[in-house]
Amino acid sequence: MPLQSSFAPAGITAVNFVIASVQVDEVTGKVEIEWPTSSAQNMAQLSLEQGSLSDEVFAQGKTQKVYTLTFRGQKMVAKQFFNVGEGPDTVDMNTNKDELEKEAICLAQTGYFYKCFLELAEERAVDMGDGNFLLALEVIESGANPSSASGLTSYELQDQELSAEYAAVAWLLEPRRQKQFKKWTGTCEHPSYNNNMVGNILTCFAHFVDLHSKKSVVLADIQTSVVGSKHVLFDMMFHTKNGKSGAGDHGQDGIDNYVKVHHCVDRCETMRFEAPEPEKISVKDSDSEDSEE
Ligand SMILES: [Zn+2]
Repeated sequence: MPLQSSFAPAGITAVNFVIASVQVDEVTGKVEIEWPTSSAQNMAQLSLEQGSLSDEVFAQGKTQKVYTLTFRGQKMVAKQFFNVGEGPDTVDMNTNKDELEKEAICLAQTGYFYKCFLELAEERAVDMGDGNFLLALEVIESGANPSSASGLTSYELQDQELSAEYAAVAWLLEPRRQKQFKKWTGTCEHPSYNNNMVGNILTCFAHFVDLHSKKSVVLADIQTSVVGSKHVLFDMMFHTKNGKSGAGDHGQDGIDNYVKVHHCVDRCETMRFEAPEPEKISVKDSDSEDSEE
């Protein structure tokens, strides 16, 4: 058992994190992620910051497990993938890191889209909580134990060490929200909200993303939770042309489906958004009754 550098109460593990840099190009919306471990020569060059991570799961979705975390004096959560479609607890460290990276890109790009949207819209009832997530690595010194939350053993880490000195496990850190949230759209369901102001803004925002991305990105699984007086978007999901933005991305089919089912609300018309038009309509679709406008 290696010497512990600090003590934490039962059920909580002291964890050393390093934070990745996530940069969004303000013009193109392109996201660049730089992991500190790719430039550090050794562990001493990493800017480690300690957090207190719970051992027990706080919340669990279909793909991710969420643990409470205190970090930088804030109440936060740390998220990790445990299922990306091949059954529970089958996600290896590299897949987890790749999927978290994709999620961070979605979050950062949604922030970019929303900033562009706000330049056109007056309404401020919905917020992205700008830059409210951190892409992090739990750094585990060679021979030390990973956090219980990571679900890994030091034996499993041996093959994954980045250097002779340490191994690293990826996490996405976010502010802790109320467990209550509102789900506005699904993966393939894109209802329009006429009588609810937040829903109405989000219906219009989704249309804006379709236009602003030149029909290459569709927002899906839109969810908000209340933070103070704002409704904050979280856990974004995209449909993109190449279908590789993350779990649930249906590619061009997901985009075509949105274009087919989106019904403009007044707000879309006020902002002079043209109704989305499918690039290619198959004969079968254009002949069916429900596609008649
Ligand atoms: Zn619309």
